[in-house]
Amino acid sequence: MMNENCFRTLHLPESWTLKTYVENGGYEVWKKVLAGEISPEDIIDQVKISALRGRGGAGFPTGLKWSFMNRRAPGQKFLLCNSDEGEPGTCKDRDILRYNPHQLIEGMCIAAYVIGASRGYNYIRGEFHEPIQRYLGAVNEARAAGFLGQDILGSGFDFDLFVHAGAGAYICGEETALIESIEGKKGMPRFKPPFPASFGLYGRPTTINNTETLASIPMILAKGGQWFLDLGKPNNGGTKLFSVSGHVEKPGNQEVRMGTPFKTLLENAGGIWKGRQLKAVIPGGSSTPVLPAEKALAMDMDYDSISKAGSFLGAGSVIIMDETTDMVKVLERLSYFYYEESCGQCTPCREGTGWMYRVVKRIREGKGRPEDLALLRDVGGRITGKVICGLGDAAAIPVTSFMKHFGHEFEHYVEHGCSIYDRM
Ligand code: SF4
Repeated sequence: MMNENCFRTLHLPESWTLKTYVENGGYEVWKKVLAGEISPEDIIDQVKISALRGRGGAGFPTGLKWSFMNRRAPGQKFLLCNSDEGEPGTCKDRDILRYNPHQLIEGMCIAAYVIGASRGYNYIRGEFHEPIQRYLGAVNEARAAGFLGQDILGSGFDFDLFVHAGAGAYICGEETALIESIEGKKGMPRFKPPFPASFGLYGRPTTINNTETLASIPMILAKGGQWFLDLGKPNNGGTKLFSVSGHVEKPGNQEVRMGTPFKTLLENAGGIWKGRQLKAVIPGGSSTPVLPAEKALAMDMDYDSISKAGSFLGAGSVIIMDETTDMVKVLERLSYFYYEESCGQCTPCREGTGWMYRVVKRIREGKGRPEDLALLRDVGGRITGKVICGLGDAAAIPVTSFMKHFGHEFEHYVEHGCSIYDRM
């Protein structure tokens, strides 16, 4: 993983141990918070100044999200960390769990203090065997060192952490499906409102943040919200972990400043493999719109710039496709994923995802009908905004954007029964 400067110990040997973390300033902020040197209101102010936005995909301002919780409300409150990381193309949170778990734990402790939660759960994708073990090892170390538990460091504040391993359903990355899953039910999104800040886990006020978001907190408070903001751009503070995958020479995670040109990200990844040209980029994970090469090459990597280019930063999962990529085959694979992962509660999503997959498959098999093209162009509007959660939109976005930028490849399939590359 390439490292800028928001993760304290990533570049050091045994970066995951308490010893390495503490020797490099780890848990100092947590001690100051417990000593009453920084109030919850000051913490929220600094996080707002930092312009930290949720790193899981939605990009919602973290400080604002925390301010929705009434920390003085009586009764149990919960902090949840979303380490489900199911978006195709994403592989960053597992590396935080694996290489920097104490920074995440310190961030969770601080967040819990701000919202007044005494229990926290980290919902981690069950296949992440090594990351789960590393994280659990770090939780045990932190507990033994007195940074977790009851009356932490004599402050009177109680907070402890637990892990819930998910079973691999993509939809459990959605906040309320994640809550249902922790409660032992099927991971199905809830109808909202009420939102988790008022009715969350076991019906109690709950805040959910992504792994990278929470792991960013200790450095924001150690160096100040303005420092973090200045690493990036206005409204797009800090650095970001981008998972670069696909047709590059060196796929992997990179921590770069918000606003870094896409071209730099590509260079860091060794460029397009086999000396080929770039054809297309999905900049934020499979649920964000695909962009053709010319748009991607002119784009900077931050929320606002990517949005201006016609897509979303999402979870920062950058999928690179070279000039030989058959876009019909890519869309067939993506559509199958959403069809598989729909939880089935809403008719437009349950039926629409399967229907989109079957139409794209039919085209790829050379049996497409001319009217299939119009159907695919039209389908997004029949799902978006008519379902309970974002999966319906996520399923429609690839279809709509692939048809917008690469519709001629679908037309060729329908007209000739084969790919544009079959001519070559
Ligand atoms: Fe389930 Fe799809 Fe409805 Fe989301 S949109 S609740 S995944 S059926």
